[in-house]
Amino acid sequence: MSVDASIALLAWYAVDKRRLPWRAEPGEVPDPYRIWLSEIMLQQTTVAAVRPYFEKFVTRWPSVEALAAADYGDVMAAWAGLGYYARARNLLACARKVAEAHGGRFPDTEAALRALPGIGRYTAAAIAAIAFGRRAVVVDANVERVVSRLFAVDEPLPAARERLYALADRITPERNAGDFAQAMMDLGSAVCTPRAPECGRCPLASCCTARAAGTQSLYPRKAPKAPKPRRDGVAYWLEHDGHVRLVRRPAKGLLGGMLALPTDAAPAEARWREAGSVDHVFTHFALTMKLLCAEADSRPHEEDAIWWPIASIGDAGLPTLFARLAARGTEWREAA
Ligand code: SF4
Repeated sequence: MSVDASIALLAWYAVDKRRLPWRAEPGEVPDPYRIWLSEIMLQQTTVAAVRPYFEKFVTRWPSVEALAAADYGDVMAAWAGLGYYARARNLLACARKVAEAHGGRFPDTEAALRALPGIGRYTAAAIAAIAFGRRAVVVDANVERVVSRLFAVDEPLPAARERLYALADRITPERNAGDFAQAMMDLGSAVCTPRAPECGRCPLASCCTARAAGTQSLYPRKAPKAPKPRRDGVAYWLEHDGHVRLVRRPAKGLLGGMLALPTDAAPAEARWREAGSVDHVFTHFALTMKLLCAEADSRPHEEDAIWWPIASIGDAGLPTLFARLAARGTEWREAA
């Protein structure tokens, strides 16, 4: 990409950039905490879904030190519904590491950022460029799409990922790497969209290979996806005296660290009745979870049991799958 195209892109960005709550306005100094938090939340998640969570987190924990001091269960509950829960565990681990090992200041190099929990190549590059103005190659799905069209890359994703990274590296300027990265992301989000790119208002149109050939819609090429495997499971709604039994799932694994209904094995001997099922799609498989419901005669004494008031089950911070199952459980008790 020529210097002129890069200048045109930055000029477009200055006028048309998205207003996002984690972004610094002109004249403001970027806040690494807000940029890191937003980048973790935005992994696999849309801007629209992230906005309310971001606002909730920065209101409750306005600095990395405040987040580092937060209770584990509070953070997991605040994250509930945003998905990919390993991010929430790593978020807290990272905040604590920054507070303890770095005096509450995020390191400003990609290498040091990548040494922190939950920060991979993309996130380290985004923080280094956007928060600290360092030259770093920032490639998310939007940038991959723009670059694949600019250079008409015929190799399909995901195999093309390294080539797209190398091409993005080639066009990333030495200066203004943070603005350049955000401009490319915004261009992919607002102009170079997946279905109908608006090439007529694109600042990079003059150097776009796909546009010249009229083949924009062919890129990025993607290898066909294998269908997701299906799995079945059972969850248990056991209630007693207006409370339902919950468990905290093991830290590692699916929905790790989250509050949930018990699964796999019935938590007590009882007259279990079926109350329908819920379908949920995870990254690597699709799950159908059957719900069995029962009322316990007494509350068994168990060390790890959490008996949550059913009237405020919405405040338990259940992940989406279990929130939907809990809604079924509530319907079951109302019908019983
Ligand atoms: S000219 Fe069209 S296809 Fe090429 S980068 Fe711009 S919007 Fe995308």
